[in-house]
Amino acid sequence: MANIQAFKNACIGVPLILPSSSEYPAARKIYQGECNAVPLAIVQPETRAQVQQIICAAAQNGIKVTIRSGGHNIPGLCIQDNSVTIDMRRIRHVGIAPDKNSATIGGGATNLDVARALEAEGLVTPLGLVATVGFIGWSTFGGYGSFMNHFGLGKDNILGAEIVNAEGEVIQADNEMLRAIRGAGGALGVIVSLRVKVYPLTKVLAGSLLLDVCNFKPFILAMEENAFSFPPALQIGTAIFNLPNGKRNFRVELLWSSPNVEEGRKAIEYLKSIAPPVIDSHLQETALSSLITAIDEMIPPNIYGHNETVSIPRLDNEILDLVNDFLDQMPKDPATVLALHHLSPVSPSSRDGGVLNSSFPIRFGHTMIEFIGSVVHREDRPTSEKWAADFRDAFRATGKALSETYLSMTSPGDRTLQQVYGEEWEELKRSKEKHDPNGLFDLVVPRIRSGLS
Ligand SMILES: Cc1cc2nc3c(=O)[nH]c(=O)nc-3n(C[C@H](O)[C@H](O)[C@H](O)COP(=O)(O)OP(=O)(O)OC[C@H]3O[C@@H](n4cnc5c(N)ncnc54)[C@H](O)[C@@H]3O)c2cc1C
Repeated sequence: MANIQAFKNACIGVPLILPSSSEYPAARKIYQGECNAVPLAIVQPETRAQVQQIICAAAQNGIKVTIRSGGHNIPGLCIQDNSVTIDMRRIRHVGIAPDKNSATIGGGATNLDVARALEAEGLVTPLGLVATVGFIGWSTFGGYGSFMNHFGLGKDNILGAEIVNAEGEVIQADNEMLRAIRGAGGALGVIVSLRVKVYPLTKVLAGSLLLDVCNFKPFILAMEENAFSFPPALQIGTAIFNLPNGKRNFRVELLWSSPNVEEGRKAIEYLKSIAPPVIDSHLQETALSSLITAIDEMIPPNIYGHNETVSIPRLDNEILDLVNDFLDQMPKDPATVLALHHLSPVSPSSRDGGVLNSSFPIRFGHTMIEFIGSVVHREDRPTSEKWAADFRDAFRATGKALSETYLSMTSPGDRTLQQVYGEEWEELKRSKEKHDPNGLFDLVVPRIRSGLS
């Protein structure tokens, strides 16, 4: 207890919430409903100087920190026992460079903050499709989402970072640190802001198709066959959800990011010719902020349990037959979902020149599959988690899945970090030893020194 009092004394002027405070339960609330961790304190810095003050106070008092922004780490690791949570949500500025080629984004900004600020200037950058997810947490671990076929994954758009390091200094990340940040987030320090590429785009066209589940296989096979010929401006996301009436719904989310709308319509007509949609929302011009807000509203505000994931270079007949078998057994909880993130082989993130130096190990077209075993109804948790884990294992048993997985969707204990990062692991460990020798950030995702996912 003595050290938290000394920490508090050193944090004069920094908003700080102790477990005894009536504000604590709300400040501690995150997306993962099962997380019972009770941090020693939650600090809410408003400036980079306050972040420095917190880091110095933590280091002097031997207290480890975790970092929280949007609160959507699925296992809930942004808050932990016996540590101080640095809640970055008060640092959420978005500034656009005078040449309009880049933007600087505060360490606690959400996808929605970024979308709104950029669209006011006729600009976009790749973003996650859920408004309330933190931009730094989304982009630095990889960042699958909008425009990834056109402009690349989130991590391939990171140009620079301002960090408060383990010494409490404000530094601009050098190439070695940027390499770690692009894939391994805040393992080396608190990211006060990221500088990212932005692109001129005033019109976003978005829509969705609802298809019969029996069309899942032919639809995905056609996507695979046309992977090289679809225009990169067409982003396709697919998912199978449970509807409230107990039926399943195969949903195809479409996003078109080029002024040449006719080309987009043609590509979508082709998709519709593979399998006629039961419902076609038609492509509509919309603001990205409205789209990601609408998607957010379809997602439960809290869940219990974990997701599983595999990444796979190609979805073929054998794999899709396996999917059909597991869809037959899909539990009915509304949060239990199969979601596929298709990174096209023509994306900049799959090509030489578009992939920046990073610790993210997969640098070619692939599909990142989320077996969402989380639930809204707590009592459904064992059934949904077992379905997701069995599904994941069956994929691996085909020998066609990559051994590297997407950290943000990997359930705790499923993979070691060495497996997650593959060939990037040794270099990442070296950077960690160099920049955080005393382990101040050891609890921050990814927990490199423990090696645990
Ligand atoms: C509903 C939902 C939808 C999702 N959709 C997608 C998606 O479409 N595509 C995709 O790729 N992923 C997606 N994810 C995964 C999500 O991107 C990651 O879980 C992400 O890390 C969450 O970031 P956050 O800031 O919201 O979470 P937090 O729990 O607040 O942060 C997660 C971790 O990010 C690091 N971090 C955050 N901010 C900073 C900072 N300023 N400095 C240093 N480190 C920091 C810390 O290690 C922290 O523990 C989704 C997750 C959920 C729950």
